[in-house]
Order: sequence, then C-alpha cells, then structure tokens
Amino acid sequence: MAKSIQLKRDSIKSNYSGSGDYDLVIIGSGLSGLSSGMMWQKNTANKRTLIIEKNSYPGGYSTAYEREGYVFETTQLFPDIIDILEYLEIDLDLKQYEGNFMRRLVVEGEQVEEYKIPAGAENFKTYLVGIFPDDADKIRALMDYSVDMFKQVRKLKANSKLKDKLMIPFQAPKVVANLNRTYSGLLDKFGITNPKLREVMETFTSFSGVPSGRASAIMATGAMLSSMTRCFRPYGYFDEFPAKMAQLFQERGGEILLDTEVEKIIVENGEAKGVRVKGQDEIIRAGTIITTVDPMLAMRTLVGDEHLPASYVDKLKNTIMSVSSINVALGLDDKIDMKTLDLDYPYNVVSTGLGTADKLFEGYLAGDQAFSNDCFHMAVICPSLTTGAKNTITLRCTPFALGQWKELRDNDYPKYMQEKERWGDFFINIAEKYFIPKLSKHIVVKDISTPATYARYSGSPTGSLYDMASLVSQFGPKRLPMLTPVKNLYQPKFSHGLYGTMMNGVQVVDLLLDRKFNNGNSLFAPIKH
Ligand SMILES: Cc1cc2nc3c(=O)[nH]c(=O)nc-3n(C[C@H](O)[C@H](O)[C@H](O)COP(=O)(O)OP(=O)(O)OC[C@H]3O[C@@H](n4cnc5c(N)ncnc54)[C@H](O)[C@@H]3O)c2cc1C
Repeated sequence: MAKSIQLKRDSIKSNYSGSGDYDLVIIGSGLSGLSSGMMWQKNTANKRTLIIEKNSYPGGYSTAYEREGYVFETTQLFPDIIDILEYLEIDLDLKQYEGNFMRRLVVEGEQVEEYKIPAGAENFKTYLVGIFPDDADKIRALMDYSVDMFKQVRKLKANSKLKDKLMIPFQAPKVVANLNRTYSGLLDKFGITNPKLREVMETFTSFSGVPSGRASAIMATGAMLSSMTRCFRPYGYFDEFPAKMAQLFQERGGEILLDTEVEKIIVENGEAKGVRVKGQDEIIRAGTIITTVDPMLAMRTLVGDEHLPASYVDKLKNTIMSVSSINVALGLDDKIDMKTLDLDYPYNVVSTGLGTADKLFEGYLAGDQAFSNDCFHMAVICPSLTTGAKNTITLRCTPFALGQWKELRDNDYPKYMQEKERWGDFFINIAEKYFIPKLSKHIVVKDISTPATYARYSGSPTGSLYDMASLVSQFGPKRLPMLTPVKNLYQPKFSHGLYGTMMNGVQVVDLLLDRKFNNGNSLFAPIKH
C-alpha cells in the first residue's frame, strides 16, 4: 500500500504581524533564507526578524509537489550538514545512504562501462585502485592530497581580515597553490591521463554542469568529499526539511510573509533601509537585509545599478550564472517493481564519454543546449524507494540554457508544450535504454520542468539552478562577496547546493555578529562555551 500524500510545506502559513520595522529582513525562504534566520535567532535575543517569500510556501528550490496523485521532489540528497542541524535543533527523520554513493554508466558507442562509486573517500580510493591498478600510485597521491587540501579549507576565514590573509600561506598552502587551478589541472598535476579514470573523477564536476577544465579544483574536491563522505535525505518528502525549519523559525519568534514579492530594496545614501513589496506603497523598514535570491535579480533589479559602483556592476555583468535544466518527473504504474532495478542510490548517472561536459557547457554558454544521441548527461533518481509512495522517478538533465524557453512559454504555449514533450521523450528513451526497460509503457503521469519553469519559480532571470557557476574564475576572492557595496545589505553566496545553503546561514550571521559564534571560520566550527 503506497504512502499517502501529505505535503508539509502547505502547513506553513504567514504570521506577519504587520509591523513596519524589523532588525533583520531576509529576502527568500529557501534553505539559505531559513538557515540565516535560524542562525540569527540562535545567536541573538529579542530581535524582530522577518522572512519575505514570493511563493505560497517556503523551501525555494528544495521542495516537493503533487501531480495527479503522485508526489515529485526537486532535490534528492544533501551532504553532511548533520552538525548544523543539531546545532539548530532541527529534528528530521533522515535516511543515510550506506554503501554506494552513485551508480555511473559511461556510454562509448555501443559499449557501456558501469561504475559503482562507494561512499567515503577511503573506500573510493580503494575502489579506484582496484579498477585502475596501473594508476594506483597516482590515485592514492591524488586522493590523499584532496583530503588534505579540504582539511586546509577548514582553516580559512569566511571574510578574511588582513591578519587572516597573512596567515593563509602558512595555514593553507594547498589552498593557495590551487586557487587558480581547474579540476582537470589537478588531475594533470597527478599525471592522471587514463581517459576512463578521468571520466570517473570528473563525475563530481559534471554534477553542477561545469566541465572539469573550467571548474575550480578546490570547489570540485569539496563537492566530492562533502557529498560522498556521508549523505542523507528525509524519509518523508523533501519539503519536510524547509517546512520543519520554517515551523521552528516561527515558533522561536520569527515572522514569515508568504505570497509576497520584494520589488525594491530601498537604498538611501548608500545604505539599505528596507524593502518595498509588490502591491504596497508602504516600506517595510529593516536595520539589516540579507538577500538570498539570484544576485542578478537582487543587485541589478531590486537594488538597481544606479546605487552600485560601476566596478561592481561590471563584475555582475561578467558573472556567469550556473546552468539550468530540464527535469522529467514520472509517475509510474504499480506493475513495475522499482526495487529490482538497482536504482536505490543517491544518484544514478548515465553520460557519454570524456569531453561530454565540455560540449554541453559550450552549448549552454551559447544560450542553448548541445544534447544529442552521441552527447548526453542525465541523472535518474528514484525517491519513492525511500518515501514508500507511489512509484516515481526523476530524470535530471543538465545543462540547458534559458534560451528560447521563456519566450516560447509566454508567446507560443503550444510550441512550448511540443518542445517539452520532445525533450521529455528524448530523455525517457535514454532512461529506458540504460536503466528501466519498457519504462514508457509504465508512465501514468509526466511532469516536465524547463529552464522557464526554474526562472519563474525562483525569480532567477536565467533559471540558474546553482547560483554563480562554480568556475575557477569565480572562486574564493573572485566570487561576489557577502558584503555588498550597499551598507547593511548582505548577500551570502558560499556555494551551491544544500551544504552551501546551510553554510550561507553560518557565514552571514557570524559576519553580522562580528565572529561571535563561528569565529569567522569558513566552514561550520562553532566556538564552544
Ligand atoms: C531540480 C533541482 C535539484 C537539485 N538537487 C540538489 C540536491 O540533490 N542536492 C543539493 O545539495 N542541491 C540540489 N540543488 C540545488 C539546491 O536546491 C539549491 O542550491 C538550494 O536549494 C538553493 O537554496 P537558496 O535558498 O539559496 O535559493 P532558492 O531555493 O532559490 O531560494 C530563494 C527563494 O527566494 C524567493 N524569491 C525570489 N525572488 C524573490 C522576491 N523578489 N521576493 C521574495 N522572494 C523571492 C524564491 O521564491 C525562493 O523561494 C538542486 C536544485 C534544483 C533546482
């Protein structure tokens, strides 16, 4: 008997008091906004705090939704953020993935290689050495170096002062050495030339739709180690996570205003004073504002170029946002036994061989896509294996650009639907060929999201999924900083993903409170009292 549908997100209601004056206003109730609000509550007292959200429920990109009796989810796993959840006293019933982290298929013509990437850095190293014995020494050296480099990231400060900067070369020499290195540069450094081994290692950059020749070595290493060490998902639907945070935030005295779009961040004499929301003339005043929405939207539209230094506007114009996606969510009949299909991994990924990520990313940069029968990358996720609900799978297909999608959706809806179906069929065929025989015969409900869906839902002008692209040219000091040129306006943008969202809350509140609880550390390491 399949589990019933009870989305927790809908239990959260606005509790806005109508007060026009807050100590802190947060724009956006995605996990960055909620973690910022909860961190602030934990480390301050008697502050009036408001989160404003344009959608009718909290969660942003991390959510679940129902279509014709099936529940679909957007996000599928989060890496090790357990210590932050405990710190914030967020109690969730979580499944920890044991065993393998990913089932990975690499297609070269008619040949298909299968890899089962285990969880844990040590296990991964042993696994790779077993498959690529000729490269054993290189693999060991790379993995040991990677673990060490990630440890050094822990020694960095989030918003370095001069004294911190002077210490960096001594405390984190590997970080300094790799600041401008791409992930493929890191593989080169260890003499890893075997294309099959490279393809497996590059799994962790293709996650975010960035090719390893452009991805930051440090960011890719961090993504690899943080996600494969321990990873989790709720036993319930994914909306439980933000709903629980929103509920606790309200119980602890915070206010949430749903269904309300911030139209303007009010700046007077270079200082953020409050926000104006759509349909209301009155300004909601704020001592401090944190924006968690797409930086192009926040800075160029809500603030406006006229309030920003020309150099900052140039930086924004030159910032490459991360890719968008087509997601095909499928509700399947009960004649298919999902348990027998070997799909219960955080990720099942199929792609064509080395070079695929480069071609797809070039397509994205050109404002389009470069998928074909010989060039594809797709993840297959099967949430119902955990939730126990009616059979669902999601096909996540990245990277796509917004391109013509919004234009079609707004001006030629039949063509938009036709294009959606065309791409849906393309990816269903791939899933059928490599993962689920006769898949198309079992489809009861099909729900396809396009880049236009993501743009509309998140407010991102490009439908970007992962904030700023994790390119080496946008890493560390080259990333847009948390401190904006507008006084009292903060923009936490640690990195993408749910790990990044929790770290956004840690970093921005620690900055606001002058390193009061996390000692300025770049990662979560709260001061023990
Ligand atoms: C399909 C998909 C799958 C993903 N899978 C994973 C995964 O498995 N694991 C993982 O770690 N990461 C995953 N990610 C990435 C992850 O979901 C995001 O990095 C994260 O949820 C971003 O959270 P956020 O709070 O920073 O931003 P968002 O979730 O975008 O939240 C911003 C919020 O601001 C609101 N907003 C926008 N404009 C305004 C305005 N003007 N006024 C008021 N409110 C506004 C939006 O409605 C939104 O709720 C996935 C992303 C997508 C889209």
